[in-house]
Order: sequence, then C-alpha cells, then structure tokens
Amino acid sequence: MAKRPKFIEIRTYQVGFGDCFLLSFVYGEKDKRHVLIDFGTTGLPGKTAKPSLHMPKIANHIKGVCDPDGLTAVVATHRHADHINGFGTDGRTGKSGTIIANLKPRVVLQPWTEDPDAKRDARAATRDSSRSRKSVVAGLAAMNDVARMVADIAMKPPSWMSASLQKELMFLGQDNIANKSAVENLIAMGSRKGATAVWAHHGSKSGLERLLPGVKVHVLGPPDLKQSEKIRKMRSRDPDQFWHLVSGGAGKNLLATGVAWGAKAQSRRVPPGARWFRDRLEKLNGQQLLEIVRTLDQQMNNTSLILLFDVFGKKLLFPGDAQIENWSYAFDDAPDAEKTRALLEEVDVYKVGHHGSLNATPKKGLWERFRKRDNGLLTLLSTMPGKHGNSRSKTEVPRTTLLKELEERSTLQNTVTLKMGDTTAPCHFVKVEP
Ligand SMILES: [Zn+2]
Repeated sequence: MAKRPKFIEIRTYQVGFGDCFLLSFVYGEKDKRHVLIDFGTTGLPGKTAKPSLHMPKIANHIKGVCDPDGLTAVVATHRHADHINGFGTDGRTGKSGTIIANLKPRVVLQPWTEDPDAKRDARAATRDSSRSRKSVVAGLAAMNDVARMVADIAMKPPSWMSASLQKELMFLGQDNIANKSAVENLIAMGSRKGATAVWAHHGSKSGLERLLPGVKVHVLGPPDLKQSEKIRKMRSRDPDQFWHLVSGGAGKNLLATGVAWGAKAQSRRVPPGARWFRDRLEKLNGQQLLEIVRTLDQQMNNTSLILLFDVFGKKLLFPGDAQIENWSYAFDDAPDAEKTRALLEEVDVYKVGHHGSLNATPKKGLWERFRKRDNGLLTLLSTMPGKHGNSRSKTEVPRTTLLKELEERSTLQNTVTLKMGDTTAPCHFVKVEP
C-alpha cells in the first residue's frame, strides 16, 4: 500500500507584510516532513516591532516544530524581500537565515529565474534560448539595481515629493532590492552535501515527490522562456512588449533603456549602477518614478513559483505573488491548460496570491473556478493593510472587494487578526485531513 500522510498541519506566521507558511506532512508520530514556503517581511504591525528581533523568534518556533526532523524543504517563491529576507544571515533579520540553514533542508526549490547557472553557463540549454534566458536573468538583476536607485532617491526625498509618494517609492524600491544575504544563503542551503537545489518552471519536477510519499506536487508556474512568448518578449530591446503593463511616458522609456543596459553590463560582468542612469532617474517626476518601481514589482511577481499539492484527494494551492501573466500561461496557454483548469476547480486550500492584491487572484480564471467556494474552501491570507497601493485608485492591498469575498465565501485565516504580543511567534494553525 502506498504510503501517504495521515494529515497536514499548516502554520501561517505573522510576518506583517510578507509570507511565511510551514506545511507539516504528518506520516506518523515520529515521521513528520516539513516544508517552509517563503520567509520574509517588509513591515511589521506595531511601532516597536523590529525584524531583527521578530524574525529569529519565528525561525526558532519553526525549529521547535521541526525538531528533531529538520526541514524537508525550503521553497522561495520569488526574489522579493517580503518572501526571502528571513533567509538572510546578516543582522537585518537577526540572522534568522542561519537558524533555518541549521535545519538542513534537503531540497531548496526556487523558480528557474534564480538558477545561478543561467548567469554563466551557456551550455545549459540550446544556444538561442540560453542567450535569452541569460538576458532575462540579467535583466532581473538589473531591475534590482534600478530599485536600489529609486529607494535611494526616496531616502533623501526632493522637496517636491509628497510624504505618501515617498512612502510608496520606499516600500516598492526596498522590496525589489536584491537580497544578497538571503540569495546567497538559499544557494548555500541548496549546495550543501546531501541537499538538492531545484529551479522549476511550469510542468517541471519539484524535487519534493521522493521526499513526500503520496504527495503529488504540480508546478504550475512560472512558465519558462520556451513556454511563454510573453516572457520571451520581456527582453529589453522590445520595450513595448516588455513594459506592456505600463501606460507609457518617459519613465517607461528610461526603464527599458536602463534594464537593457544593465543586462548587457551584467552579462559582461561589468558593475551595474551607472552614474548616467542615476542622473536621469533623478530628473523624473513622481509619477514616472512610481511607474518604474510598480513595473519592476510586477515583473518580479511574475517569476513566482505556483505550487499545487495534491494529497489524499485534497488540493492545496500556493501561488506566491503570481500575477495574471504568470497565471494565464497555466490555465489558458499551456498545452496542459485543460488539466490545470480541472485541478484548480478542486482546490480546497488557497494561499491568497500577493497578499490579497487585485491582480493576483484573477476573478474569472481562478476565483470563480474554485468549486468549493461556499462549500468548505479554506483561504490563507498573509497581509498588512496600509503598506501597498491605495483605495483611491482601488489598488489597496488587501483589496476590499476581494477580502469581502474571501470572508463571505470561504473560511479565511487572515494574519491581521494575529496580535504581535500574544506569543513569541504568533501564527494561525490548521489541520487538513483526508
Ligand atoms: Zn509579496
């Protein structure tokens, strides 16, 4: 008889604006296998909370839950700070990443865009796709540099910049800055002897199956280059395609130029961050700067892994911050889109995409497809209001209309109800049974 878990425990930690989910597959009293999906924050509730104090508390709580088995796997859905900075081993998150690394995850799963070989190994794929793959990976790195420059500008705001614009630029800029310490720790955890690093894309293997008997893990996103013409066209020389999310204007053109230049510089190993680019960036107005960081943010979100765990007939969906372009490949364009749509109809547990933003839970493609709405659907939302977007432009996160649906039509576990002071590491807990 095939071995399978008896039940699953899910812990949703209070990380303010960020994600941190611990899935424990319980096979027996002494056989539990733990998968940590994301660990990051870009803002905690309460004025006194500090990531350098809070994140180690969560890491230690995770350690307590995983003891003595350690971690079976770590999943980092995408490179945003609010998903990975807890893996950092520097002081900013109190070296919480060291605590996680000591739990010796056997698999470290990330999207293909994080594969370090894509940066240097031309033999990884056929020559053409390898070149465009490298160009996308270098383009993402260049975006991190642009984000840093925007955050720098917001740090010393010019006199014309309003406080609310400064806050938003700072938030988006910092979330998109490369998290060197976390990125390096993820690579180190995956290169440890006995560990496997997996860089996945739609339809590829997750590397988790052999460690989680009886659990099928479907990787629904992100599409890789061969799969998605949309992402292929993200190449910087095609600004109209790359920046199709942007309405237009000077900011858009400068961003396209900057990322093209940065990608070129990085693939030749020239240090990025050119003075000329910074000078021109400083001359943009507020709307243009905002346009730039919003675009960076969306492009990075679309590199999110989308994982669907299929176990004892239950389907658990963890899509990171995937937005519509990433989703639409899975349920519209992929050759197996029909199969994916059928899986999505059966979802029992949904980790609400992108902290409840309007663009990560496509209404028709996803939400209205869930058959178990009004009938046992469990939704997990990790969010913090007042950080991202605004209600004037109907872009507030979490989006009010979506939140209402989640509250009315599913059993919602929302991190906003977790008080920081209640325990050392406040979290929601739920047991999913056959
Ligand atoms: Zn996020």
